[in-house]
Amino acid sequence: MEYLSERLKALSVSQTLAMAQKSREMKAMGIDVINLSIGEPDFHTPDDIKEAAKKAIDDNFTSYPPVPGYADLREAISEKFNRENGLDYSPDQIIVSAGGKHSLINVMLTIVNPDDEVIIFAPYWVSYYDQIILAQGKPVVINTTIDNDFKVTPSQLEEAITPKTRAIIFNSPSNPTGMVYTREEMESIARIVEKHEGVFIISDEIYEHITFTGEHVSMASFDSVYDRVITVNGVSKGYAMTGWRIGYIGAPLWLAKGVNKLQGQFTSGVSSIAQRAALAAVTSTGNSREVMRDAFLKRRDLVCRLLEDIDGFKIRVPQGAFYVFPEISYYFGKKDGENVINDSTDLSMYLLEKAHVAVVGGAGFGSPNCIRLSYAASDKELIEAVKRIKEVLGKLK
Ligand code: PMP
Ligand code: GLU
Repeated sequence: MEYLSERLKALSVSQTLAMAQKSREMKAMGIDVINLSIGEPDFHTPDDIKEAAKKAIDDNFTSYPPVPGYADLREAISEKFNRENGLDYSPDQIIVSAGGKHSLINVMLTIVNPDDEVIIFAPYWVSYYDQIILAQGKPVVINTTIDNDFKVTPSQLEEAITPKTRAIIFNSPSNPTGMVYTREEMESIARIVEKHEGVFIISDEIYEHITFTGEHVSMASFDSVYDRVITVNGVSKGYAMTGWRIGYIGAPLWLAKGVNKLQGQFTSGVSSIAQRAALAAVTSTGNSREVMRDAFLKRRDLVCRLLEDIDGFKIRVPQGAFYVFPEISYYFGKKDGENVINDSTDLSMYLLEKAHVAVVGGAGFGSPNCIRLSYAASDKELIEAVKRIKEVLGKLK
């Protein structure tokens, strides 16, 4: 007999992690799978950051750390916000958590009451939806279209806000679309939110350093909403540190205090060693971030050029992050012998089984007509993956 809680039963499995796991299992069986499912830089953590972690062990950073993060790390993040984003967050407005994902759920659990509505823009990152459910909130999904670059219009947002709205999750650069909102587009969102007291913007800026537009705009930089924005960020993507599990928020003081209280009962703070590595990352004067970003830009151009050559793939060229999100509904209803493609989940399974290429179906992102490919892979893998995809799709009639 199993006694799983209703809370747990309401959750779905993370599709990104599930596909990554499937592809690991196939690799373990000796199958040559190209994994374009999980979104993580394929670079190693830069050496200066690794050295800082080794030194932290030797310097005996081995006791419980302060719950909200080491004081010097929060100071350094405060300076980073000021220097890179023009944001004024004092160190006590900053809380360090075990990854951006943890920062997000902390915020949700801190401000969402049962049945409060939280607005998300589809395509949305897989975990937003389930984190809202976990916090007993109600996800309200605004759908966008590829023809509008997967962006929400001000009138759509206006219509979606109700007296029950507690928060809006905003993510630019976006996972899974790679779209980046312009300053003007963000300003019109801020203008709407400023009129609705008690509505917060959770601004997930985890891809800020992987932006090809030349500037990253922080939602909290619009003064009229500054005290209603929670800026979520972390070191996973910009510094190739996914495994270290460090994320952080800059938030209104009362909210940061709430998250601190929650974290005090939950994790007692974040790994001391990883925090010392994160301190080296946010204070680093090296150019590893830029080198990685430039590599992603080259791969974006490569993968988009290759994908344009596939029948029935409609794409928008991403402006940031390392994902491309083709619309693939052209293949719905087509078959190859026994295999019938009814939706994007079928298509992603077909690509995994027949082409040995792992991608993620769009359904988990709220966009069942699309699939997501992560181009955080080598040129060689990308070329081979697209070749295989093209070949097997050619068999669908
Ligand atoms: N937000 C988005 C949009 C992401 O793609 C990720 C990557 N998993 C995260 C947050 C969380 O990243 P992490 O927990 O590794 O910091
Ligand atoms: N952000 C990555 C992705 O979307 C990592 C996986 C995850 O955290 O869900 O694939």
